[in-house]
Amino acid sequence: MNTLPAPFEERMRKLLGEEAPAFFDALQTEPPVSIRLNPRKFPASLPIFPQAATAGPVSWCPDAFYLNARPLFTLDPYLHGGAYYVQEASSMFIAHILNQILPEKEIRALDLCAAPGGKSTLLSSLLPPDSVLVANEVIRSRATILKENIIKWGSEQVVVTNNDPSDFGALRGAFDLILVDAPCSGEGMFRKDPNAIQEWSEHNLQLCSERQRRILQDIWDCLKPGGFLIYSTCTYHREENEAILEWLLRQYDARSVEIRHSFDSITPGYSEAYCYRFYPHKTRGEGFFTGVIQKTEGPEFHLPANKKNKISPVSLPAETRALLAYPELYTPYANEQIVGILPVRQAAFIRLLDNSLRVLYKGCEVAEIIHKKVRPLPALALWQGLNQDQCPIYQADKTTALTFLKKEDIPPIPLTGDWILITHEGIGLGWCKNLGNRLNNYYPKEWRIRMQLNS
Ligand code: SAM
Repeated sequence: MNTLPAPFEERMRKLLGEEAPAFFDALQTEPPVSIRLNPRKFPASLPIFPQAATAGPVSWCPDAFYLNARPLFTLDPYLHGGAYYVQEASSMFIAHILNQILPEKEIRALDLCAAPGGKSTLLSSLLPPDSVLVANEVIRSRATILKENIIKWGSEQVVVTNNDPSDFGALRGAFDLILVDAPCSGEGMFRKDPNAIQEWSEHNLQLCSERQRRILQDIWDCLKPGGFLIYSTCTYHREENEAILEWLLRQYDARSVEIRHSFDSITPGYSEAYCYRFYPHKTRGEGFFTGVIQKTEGPEFHLPANKKNKISPVSLPAETRALLAYPELYTPYANEQIVGILPVRQAAFIRLLDNSLRVLYKGCEVAEIIHKKVRPLPALALWQGLNQDQCPIYQADKTTALTFLKKEDIPPIPLTGDWILITHEGIGLGWCKNLGNRLNNYYPKEWRIRMQLNS
C-alpha cells in the first residue's frame, strides 16, 4: 500500500487511541472479497461459489457471502447475467437498515448518488412489491455504467436518471426513502484503492464536506414527511460524517433514527445522533459510515393530474407479450422504436419523472420494432419477469457463454424460432438471431468482454 498521508495518520491515532495500531495493521492486509446474490435470479441449489460456504456469510445482509480469494470475475458468465454483484461487505449494512425501516406497502425510493449501482441493486431486491426506485447519477459516463448494472440485475422497478441533485425540484415530498451515499474523501477505501490515497488532501476534505451539505440541501424537500433519509460515506472524517447528521438535525424538522443490531464489530459513531462506523480492524470489510434521519414535517406530494402525465395507451406486439410471465402487472410504453413495460402502479409517477428529469432507462425495454419487424432487446433476456418457457433456449456451457459475451460467433445447434435466448445454467444472457446454419450474435457491443479467454 502507498504511504498514508501524515495528517490522516495523526488524526486516526488520536481518534482510535489504543486501537490505532490494530487499525494500521489491518490496512496492510488484503481486503476481503464479498458478493451479494440476486435473489430473483440465483438458483440457490447451484454450487457456483463452493468457496463461499467456507468463507462465511456477511452477517447483516441476506444472500451475501465472503469469498476466500478473488476470482477473475470478468470471465464469469454469472456476473454478466446479473446473478450476483461484487460488493464491499461493510456497505451491505444498508440491507440491515432497510429491513428495519421499510414499510410493507409500496414506496417511492431515490438513490441519489447511485453509480456504479451496488446500493441500487441491493435496494431493488428489498423494495416492497409495486415500489419504484429512482437510481440517479450526476456524471454521465458513470450513469451509463449504472444503467448497464441495473439492466443486468433485471428488476423492472428501477428508473435510471442522470441529474444534478438540484434538478429534483418538481418532486417535493415525493420520496418515502432517499439514500445519499455521498461522494467523500474515501479514506475507508485506502486499502482497496490506492488511488484514494493519491487523491486525498486536507483541502479536499473541506470541499467534500461542503459538497455533502449542498447535495442534502438540494434534495431534502423531496423527502416525504415521515420519510427516511439514509446518509452514508466511505470515510472516517468526522466533518463528513457525524457533523453532517448533526447539521441536518439542526437545520430541518427531523429526528435521528436508532438502528437496532447486535454486531460487536460495529462501532457507534461519535455523536448524540445514532450512527454507525465500520473499521477494517473490527469488521471484515472496508471503512464505512452511516446514519438514518426521519423527516418529521414538510409538504405532502400530490401527483399532478395534468395531461402530460397521462400514459398514451400502447400495446405490445403479441410475440413479445407472450414472453412476459405476468403481462397484466405492467403498463406498456413506446419510445420511438423501442417498446417497454412499467409497473402498473408506478406508471403515472414514472411519466412525471420523464417530464422533469433526464431519464436514461425505465422499467424494462423489451423490444425494438423496425419496419414492423420485432427484435427482442438485451434487457428482456436479463429481466426477472421473462417467461423462459416461451423461448427457444440455447443452454451454453461456460466456454460458449463467454464466447457469446465476447460478441463472437457461437456454434449453431438445431433450434426452431427466430430469436434464441442464450442462457448459462438457467441465467439469461442475451439473444441470437437464428439464421438456420448460423447464429447472429446480438449481444450489445458496449458490454462485450474484451479480455482474452485463455488469459
Ligand atoms: N452508491 C454507489 C454504489 O453503491 O455503487 C456509490 C456512490 S459513490 C460513493 C458517490 C457518487 O456520487 C459517485 O458516483 C459520484 O459520481 C457522485 N457524485 C459526485 N458529485 C456529486 C454531486 N455533486 N451530486 C451528486 N452526486 C455526486
